[in-house]
Amino acid sequence: MSFSHIDAVPMLDLKRQYQKLGARINEALQKVNESGQFILGPEVKRLEENIAKYSRTNRAVGCASGSDALLLALMAINVKPDDEVVVPSFTFFATASCVPRVGATPVFADIERDTFCLDPNAVKSKLTEKTKAIIAVHLFGQAANMPAFKQIADDYEKQYGRKLYIIEDSAQAIGAEYDGVPVGNWGDASCLSFYPTKNLGGAGDGGMVVTNDDEIADRVRLLRAHGMEPRYYHKEIGINSRLDSYQAAVLNVKLDYLDEWTSARQNNAKTYDELFAKSGVLSQITLPKCVGNRRHVWNQYVIRVHDGKRDALRAFLSEKKVSSDVYYPLGVHQQECFAWLNCASDDLPNTIQAASEVLALPIFPELTRDELEYVVASVAEFYQK
Ligand SMILES: *Cc1c(COP(=O)(O)O)cnc(C)c1O
Repeated sequence: MSFSHIDAVPMLDLKRQYQKLGARINEALQKVNESGQFILGPEVKRLEENIAKYSRTNRAVGCASGSDALLLALMAINVKPDDEVVVPSFTFFATASCVPRVGATPVFADIERDTFCLDPNAVKSKLTEKTKAIIAVHLFGQAANMPAFKQIADDYEKQYGRKLYIIEDSAQAIGAEYDGVPVGNWGDASCLSFYPTKNLGGAGDGGMVVTNDDEIADRVRLLRAHGMEPRYYHKEIGINSRLDSYQAAVLNVKLDYLDEWTSARQNNAKTYDELFAKSGVLSQITLPKCVGNRRHVWNQYVIRVHDGKRDALRAFLSEKKVSSDVYYPLGVHQQECFAWLNCASDDLPNTIQAASEVLALPIFPELTRDELEYVVASVAEFYQK
């Protein structure tokens, strides 16, 4: 097969999306311009209603980013200095950095090998009388084992006589489900990101907290706007993390296409699985797994490359003009800024192994069949050299 018509395969090409939606997006932005209302306002209110409906939760509160959504969630449940919050180490930095931002201590637990998500058994071994919350990340678009975390929270309450909160980091997983129940309905609060590379991405930063708990929703609403209610009267010290009307206007348009895009991502994952099975490289790499009764929304398609060849494969793909990326090259506990925690890697073996093996391949919805075939052929060529 000849791939001479393919220039390059990017990790993500938002221009293809804009070609299709551009007219609707421009029209929505023009309306915002004409309204003269740029912060929060009717577009944000409409987005909050739309996302709550989409997530099948009671409430949704917009804020400036996914990172702020996590911070606001911890502030809303009153995480304080002296508290511990159990988080995975194999995740994006923001899952953990919100914890010291409220003065508390992050406690890192390992992930499951198959799903890359936080391992409930690893979490159990990290619980103490100081544990206030667990942040479960639905990594790469697949829901973490939420029934197990709910059970852990129930058992904790019986043993210690106080509530253990579950926060979902759903930044990569809008639309994901476990046993038919969407993310956002398992924990006390769930945090979304609208960063442009996410499955529902804006034209800049944006985030949201979704929850079925009115008290948490009300607190996030208050805290995202300096704890101010009414105007210029401050009940407590919040932050400035408002969602702007431009982002909401773009996201209200894009939400109409989310399920279509998710199907396209799922089809791309299936096509990769089929093509890789035929390519003869399955002894060299491990394909990502969709485990149990979960709706995987494939924010990333992440393979494991065996025998220390990940970086060489990546370099070869780059020569072939196939983009790939490494999420994540090290555990969060290994980051320089967390050296003060003195967190050893001994009980995080799956994190360490994943960091050395993972390689994300392009999976965005608008990829063509030829591009997928070219990616797989390029991987196979690396092993035939
Ligand atoms: C993107 C991301 C965040 C942070 O979202 P921002 O909107 O970029 O602040 C948090 N957690 C995970 C797992 C993410 O992928």
